[in-house]
Amino acid sequence: MDTALALTWLRTAAAAVELHQQELTDLDTAIGDGDHGANLRRGFAAVLPAVEGLDSAGAVLTKAGTTLISKVGGASGPLYGKALRAMGAALTAGAPFADALDAALAAVQQLGGAAPGDKTMVDAWAPAAAAYRRTGSYTDAATAAEQGALATTPLQARKGRASYLGPRSTGHQDPGATSTALLFRALADAGPR
Ligand code: ADP
Ligand code: MG
Repeated sequence: MDTALALTWLRTAAAAVELHQQELTDLDTAIGDGDHGANLRRGFAAVLPAVEGLDSAGAVLTKAGTTLISKVGGASGPLYGKALRAMGAALTAGAPFADALDAALAAVQQLGGAAPGDKTMVDAWAPAAAAYRRTGSYTDAATAAEQGALATTPLQARKGRASYLGPRSTGHQDPGATSTALLFRALADAGPR
């Protein structure tokens, strides 16, 4: 990933969050507190000016992560923030993009303690990172993230606010897994075919 792609990814992601804000809010209203769309919108609106002029993909993603941590109050801000910072650090260290995605997933799991199947953003990150490692395709990663997000619907939440609902958390798609799928689709839209 070069600097231009990192910047285009974040701009595309910000636009996708804007476009899907209501959907994210509705999902989070069903099994959370209804702030996920607003949280991400506020976060990405702050990210875009913060990363202008940075001159490497690693620096861009690191700064984006730091900005999300400082601007987003909900659980998702620190989780996405740590994920992007881990990606940025990996890229700065010269790691290939597949390793950067794994580092992001590891950061989310270290902070949040969620495993696949707990009905969180991990359920989209994990298949997306695995698909990218298999094929090197952003499009395959996005498709895997979308399938992972869809597959959260029947699950009972074991982490985060939705877990307070117990069995009543079933039957709704997880908001964070849904926004993770948006971020990977934004990467596929931004990146080379
Ligand atoms: P909050 O739950 O604080 O209101 P958001 O609504 O912005 O924060 O984000 C909720 C999303 O965050 C959930 O749908 C879930 O995907 C994700 N999430 C919450 N807790 C965890 C966790 N411990 N590990 C991974 N993801 C989590
Ligand atoms: Mg919420």
